[in-house]
Amino acid sequence: MHVSQQPDRFVFPFTELVGALHLHTTFSDGGVTYPQMILAAQDVGLDYVVVTDHMALSGRDAGFEGFAGSLFVCVGYEHNDDNNKNHYLVLGTESVIGYHAEAQGYIDRVREAGGVGFMAHPAEKRHYFEAYPAYPWTNWNVTGFDGIELWNQMSDWLENLRTRLHFTRLFYPRRFLREAPRELLSRWDEFGRTRFVAGMGGVDAHTMKIRIGIMRRTVFPIKVELKGIRTHLYLQNPLPPSDPKRSKSLLVEALKKGRSFISNFRRSDARGSLIYLEYGEGRVVCPGMPDEEVPAPAIIRVRLPREAELRFIKNGSCIDRRKGASADFDVRTKGSYRIEAWLGKHAWIYSNPFCVGGYPLW
Ligand SMILES: [Zn+2]
Ligand SMILES: [Zn+2]
Repeated sequence: MHVSQQPDRFVFPFTELVGALHLHTTFSDGGVTYPQMILAAQDVGLDYVVVTDHMALSGRDAGFEGFAGSLFVCVGYEHNDDNNKNHYLVLGTESVIGYHAEAQGYIDRVREAGGVGFMAHPAEKRHYFEAYPAYPWTNWNVTGFDGIELWNQMSDWLENLRTRLHFTRLFYPRRFLREAPRELLSRWDEFGRTRFVAGMGGVDAHTMKIRIGIMRRTVFPIKVELKGIRTHLYLQNPLPPSDPKRSKSLLVEALKKGRSFISNFRRSDARGSLIYLEYGEGRVVCPGMPDEEVPAPAIIRVRLPREAELRFIKNGSCIDRRKGASADFDVRTKGSYRIEAWLGKHAWIYSNPFCVGGYPLW
């Protein structure tokens, strides 16, 4: 679970937790039970999962929240409005918020209840598959949400699935995961100009069965689903195993503050990646909402387990690209800076932004 030390004896001051978010079980429309989900997550070596059944915290009520060995199981839920749009992933509330009329209402109530919320699959589109309609975010005038699910594994895959048989897509579903929707990244960058909005990646695991003619196939068996889009958290300390309540609040806080990056495991295992900013006399901060204002100049350092194309994004625009497993990028002025890593035509890593200077950042 600990990130390895660098050869120059630099000790990375954070613990990395690798997990999968936005999972559905048989408590709503998912295809697996909690025990099956937990077993699969342990099997593929995850440190945490966040399960979000539709409008239900049944997993918590049934006693599944907490540690299962070294895996932490966090239970939230997925909210939707009366038109089944504006899906919102809710974490950290004591109960399901019983309000559906419009998104701003439940965003506010989640916050009042001490919870944290992420817009789910906001840019979802379906070009070909009418049996599975899209559930995009439609109300973009809302305020006060904590974050955005930038990359949704199920949306990415379904978006380009044609009804004309695409057998390879059914048999090798993860091969087709490409990148987070660009228009969504632009919105996110724009939101980040005036306040911090956290990004995360979700699986939206349903272990669904798709029927094509006489064929019925489980696309994305649960273990396959958990080997795709992941969110890697950087925490100050490991979760305390003897205190599940505190562990949950630390995990939810790290998500809310965006102390994380998203990876696609199918392309390569990103565990052990170090993405951090250094300023002053060796102060090190991880991506996400800063606890203190970070001044320029600073250096953003990237150390990955393998070579990739590293993109350095400032205020929504790519200002530098380099090939390699490591790079140091100079930050000379205030702004919002983030890292993307690409393997050929496929996105591999998206970091949350580093915020340099005070808001508005540009
Ligand atoms: Zn949804
Ligand atoms: Zn969902």
